[in-house]
Amino acid sequence: MGRNSLDGRIALVTGASRGIGRAIAERLGADGALVAIGYARERAAADEVVARIRKDGGRAFALHAPLGHHGDAAALWSAFDAAVTEHAPEGGVDIIVNNAGIGRSSDLASLTEDGFDEVFAVNVRAPFFVVQHGLKRLRDGGRIINISSGAARLAMPEIIAYGATKGALDTFTLNLAKELGPRGITANSVAPGIIDTDVNAGWLRGNPEAERHAASLAALGRVGQPEDVAAVVAFLASEDARWVTGRVLDATGGAGL
Ligand code: NAD
Repeated sequence: MGRNSLDGRIALVTGASRGIGRAIAERLGADGALVAIGYARERAAADEVVARIRKDGGRAFALHAPLGHHGDAAALWSAFDAAVTEHAPEGGVDIIVNNAGIGRSSDLASLTEDGFDEVFAVNVRAPFFVVQHGLKRLRDGGRIINISSGAARLAMPEIIAYGATKGALDTFTLNLAKELGPRGITANSVAPGIIDTDVNAGWLRGNPEAERHAASLAALGRVGQPEDVAAVVAFLASEDARWVTGRVLDATGGAGL
């Protein structure tokens, strides 16, 4: 069990079949929460995450939750309601982690309208409506944690639309914090830097020169791991973070200092 006990809490993590989402789910599970492992296509991988959490004495279930199309968020919560009561008869949710996201490398010249729509649909519209439909389930004192990116505040014209999605997400976080504060609900963003996950595998893994370069961008001198981000999310989900809201917490190892 982690230091910040989440015993009795119920968490939803979107895109939890791999990468940062998986690490977040495993950490929240280790800290005592019952965790819904949202996945789009990777059922087997989601089941593995569930099995890993259970093996360590935690509680979790897989939740088919593809996002990006109209109606997806409402469907997610219907499936959640049906599944959660098997594990926790009272239902409801305490922690919502909007992690599912896609990166699209495209500068302004090569950006297509379809590509723009897709990245905004998954990275912005989905979190808006996951929260909107989740609000009546979210208990007072709950937590909303949006996985943003350092790219929201750094000029990176080669991923121009992606950066804009994360900027929009951070503004959403700010407004959620204000609107939901009276219910004791906090809303924060976590902004990772370069993390060793599948999205970066193509250029990073097995390429020592790229790895050295990526490591040199962080003051702490290494590439981030999914667990580094999960630790920040676990803090924000915990009782210790009750007075932190409307913020973007960097988990970049000091990139850009
Ligand atoms: P990843 O590609 O390894 O994992 C993304 C997860 O989201 C997967 O489980 C995938 O199935 C899910 N997902 C993708 N599209 C989906 C959809 N339409 N519906 C439902 N689920 C979907 O990526 P990651 O690196 O783990 O990224 C997780 C989050 O962290 C993203 O929001 C990403 O923008 C953000 N982030 C990552 C980095 C990094 O360097 N890896 C840096 C900053 C921010």
